[in-house]
Amino acid sequence: MNSQQWIAKADKYIMKTYGRYPLVPVRGEGCRLWDADGREYLDFLAGVAVNNLGHCHPRVVAALQKQAGELIHCSNYYHIPSQIELAELLCSHSFADRAFFCNSGAEANEAAIKLARKYSREKFGADRYEIVTALASFHGRTMATVSATGQEKVQKFFDPLLHGFRHVPFNDAEALHKGITPNTCAVMLEPIQGEGGVVVPSAGYFREVREICDAHNLLLIFDEVQVGMGRTGKLFAHEHFGVVPDIMTLAKALAGGAPIGTMLAREEVASAFGPGTHGSTFGGNPLVTAAAVAAVRTILEEGILNHAEEIGEYLLGELESLGEKFPFFVEVRGIGLMIGMELSVPAGDIVKKGLERGLLLNVAQDRVLRFVPPLIVTKAEVDQMIGILSGILAEM
Ligand SMILES: *Cc1c(COP(=O)(O)O)cnc(C)c1O
Repeated sequence: MNSQQWIAKADKYIMKTYGRYPLVPVRGEGCRLWDADGREYLDFLAGVAVNNLGHCHPRVVAALQKQAGELIHCSNYYHIPSQIELAELLCSHSFADRAFFCNSGAEANEAAIKLARKYSREKFGADRYEIVTALASFHGRTMATVSATGQEKVQKFFDPLLHGFRHVPFNDAEALHKGITPNTCAVMLEPIQGEGGVVVPSAGYFREVREICDAHNLLLIFDEVQVGMGRTGKLFAHEHFGVVPDIMTLAKALAGGAPIGTMLAREEVASAFGPGTHGSTFGGNPLVTAAAVAAVRTILEEGILNHAEEIGEYLLGELESLGEKFPFFVEVRGIGLMIGMELSVPAGDIVKKGLERGLLLNVAQDRVLRFVPPLIVTKAEVDQMIGILSGILAEM
């Protein structure tokens, strides 16, 4: 079937939860995708920061193929070698001592919310359950994570929301301090807000956040679902800010494109979860964790972090030079390959024109073009993207 035929069928059978672009990708390699009509695209969205190693990275493909032939799934009633290896890898490269595995970012945040509540209830009493999060944050689409998310557009239609969340402005330690009550048990923040429009906090913000948490015995939870796994040029984005959380969640890029989520914590906090307290049928199953072990090792062993940092600086510089030619340009911001270009006009049409010209991009918060290409993107691919984007901006 060609793209048009697939889209007609989708129109008939698929729920309309997404405003989808008229594109039917059927094959990918590196930073390229091909659609059902054989047309090629340069992918600067990377499955929304999922395909950090590009499409079909050979080490991820090999791990999936090998594991699929040995054991695809078994229950968490048993021990799963690739899950254990992945936990060891993540713990040995982070502050964390233990990992819990699930299937998505929202589920990882659900696990973090449950762990924070249980830990705090046992340590400080049943009144300590409230979690402070940021306005314009995004933590997922389940009821608890919708309640945690600080965006009305995500929450409307779904009242009553879950009790026990309070939202304060991001990058404002004073506001956070004021938002803390005797009921607060934790603070949950993205190190860089992704869906919120690629918002990088000021240098001292997270140190102040950590101090506030320590002063009030609150857990600090970092949602690194989007910015983790090398996206910013470090394995975890919080490493840029010199602050260590108590709990961290990961998902998107963790398994090189396979669906996975994890919640990591230091020992004292993790110990609040005993047998029967939380679980997931598919969480950390052999297939996805084999892919994740391959993906994490590739990031660590193949110079991906340095490359992301260097090529990110190059992309940022190129976007800045390009933007400065146009009156509707506001600024470029980001770290590594987590980059946003803010305009004073809606950016939706730019994405549509990009698609027509073989470039995949996306918009956050209406006026921010988001650039989250695979971390393996080359200078030549950046130049090609800048060429296409420059043609589009010139027509505006
Ligand atoms: C994407 C995202 C989520 C939700 O992840 P899902 O896998 O879609 O559930 C949560 N937090 C952040 C910061 C995200 O970017």
